[in-house]
This record gives sequence, C-alpha cells and structure tokens, in this order.
Amino acid sequence: MKKAALLPRCSTCRQVPPEGIAGGLWIRGVFLCNRCLTALPSWTTDNVSYRTLKNSLDRLWRRPDWRCHLASGGRP
Ligand SMILES: [Zn+2]
Repeated sequence: MKKAALLPRCSTCRQVPPEGIAGGLWIRGVFLCNRCLTALPSWTTDNVSYRTLKNSLDRLWRRPDWRCHLASGGRP
C-alpha cells in the first residue's frame, strides 16, 4: 500500500501539503493548498502561478469569474 498516492498534490505549486487533504481545498477536481488559496486574491494575470492554475481550471470550468468564487470561499 502506497499511502502517499492518496495525498492530494496542489495543482499550482505541485506540493503535497503536510496536513494532507485537510491542508487545502478541492475545486471541481483541482486541488489547491492553503498557501496558494491565501495568495490567490493577490495574484495578477501575469503571475505564473495564476496562469498555471487558470490552465488547470480552464479544462474543467469555463467561467471567466471563477476567481471570484475562489476568493469568496466557493460561495457565489
Ligand atoms: Zn499550492
């Protein structure tokens, strides 16, 4: 049994949070760690992390206002 395979990996920074599943948030099949969620509102469209995340989400979620939902904790 490889327990590490069950741990989520952040789609933006590619890190596995030490808290595991509790160290981040699943959004439509994309995992984000708390560190990236905290930094998210301050990202600009030129930020490489923003672009990485956007590319990940664009395949699943084609809404231009997706970042507003993230910033408000997933509630519209
Ligand atoms: Zn991250």
